[in-house]
Amino acid sequence: MRYLITGGAGFIGSHLCELLLAQGHRVVAIDDLSTGRMENIAHLRPLPHFQLVRENINNEQVLDRLTSESDVVVHLAAMVGVQRIVEDPVRTIRTNIMGTEAVLAAAYRYGCKVLIASTSEVYGKGVRVPFTEDDDRLMGPTTRSRWAYAESKAVDEFLGLAYYHQFSLPVVVMRFFNTVGPRQTGRYGMVVPRFVRQALAGEPLTVYGDGTQTRCFADVADVTRAVAALAEHPAAPGQVFNVGATEEVTIRGLAERVLALTGSRSEIRMVAYDDAYGPGFEDMQRRVPSIARLHALIGYVPRCSLNDTLQRVIEYERSQV
Ligand code: UDP
Repeated sequence: MRYLITGGAGFIGSHLCELLLAQGHRVVAIDDLSTGRMENIAHLRPLPHFQLVRENINNEQVLDRLTSESDVVVHLAAMVGVQRIVEDPVRTIRTNIMGTEAVLAAAYRYGCKVLIASTSEVYGKGVRVPFTEDDDRLMGPTTRSRWAYAESKAVDEFLGLAYYHQFSLPVVVMRFFNTVGPRQTGRYGMVVPRFVRQALAGEPLTVYGDGTQTRCFADVADVTRAVAALAEHPAAPGQVFNVGATEEVTIRGLAERVLALTGSRSEIRMVAYDDAYGPGFEDMQRRVPSIARLHALIGYVPRCSLNDTLQRVIEYERSQV
């Protein structure tokens, strides 16, 4: 099949391009390299079935042409990372909502299947874990910019499902939980690459809050395998799927694991949320997906353990030093 991957030079995007090419598909990545990086896909560029188009998805002409030449669009291009969202909320809202509308409108013109990347953030402050796709959502106030990300992605979900119901466009919504692996950058706040870099540099590992908050970290190899399977499954359109792992760790526990696996003698430094993200920041205490729906449809079971994933991230970060 012919795939168009928006955000294809990003962390998840580059791994997805790699997997789809290995499966024999033709892949075009569109990326404006705002957070995506050329190094992520440098090894793919010589391949005959791969092409990178360095452009923003809001360039209508380019998006139209690329979509007209594709069967499936996987829409990953977005503003990501809690840090960026807090720093640049206007761009977050604009990019995430208008970009998705542009992608859906183009896909509708050519009848492409669309997979939209959403996020576990849409569950907001919900406390009943594991989160299932049809749960109610509890958002913080509009005066806290963090929630702009969740809300912009929720609008994307509404829009995608509206195109499905109203125009019969095959749209699949994927709610990614914390995804980790080589090539993820810590520059926009993501905790795993930050801890690994801090440990390798002998700097303190910065644990925000009291470190008892938990996350389930999914390996990007598991996540991209799920995306590729959803893209091919005829029953996926019109549905929302959690995509993630179920092994829950505290952030303090994560810091300890990183120290043990790297052999680093860095200290763990507790940092107040206000100092990390500015006053009034609200974090989620637990974030655990139910992956029952994904399992029922495509037989998905995460294969990579957190320690294996951390080991690969450590190897990658060492190779970058
Ligand atoms: N976090 C941390 N230290 C850091 C970066 C993040 O303790 O240097 C915490 C953050 O407050 C959150 C968790 O790690 O509780 C996961 O953060 P990340 O930004 O990776 O993902 P998200 O908050 O979107 O789940």
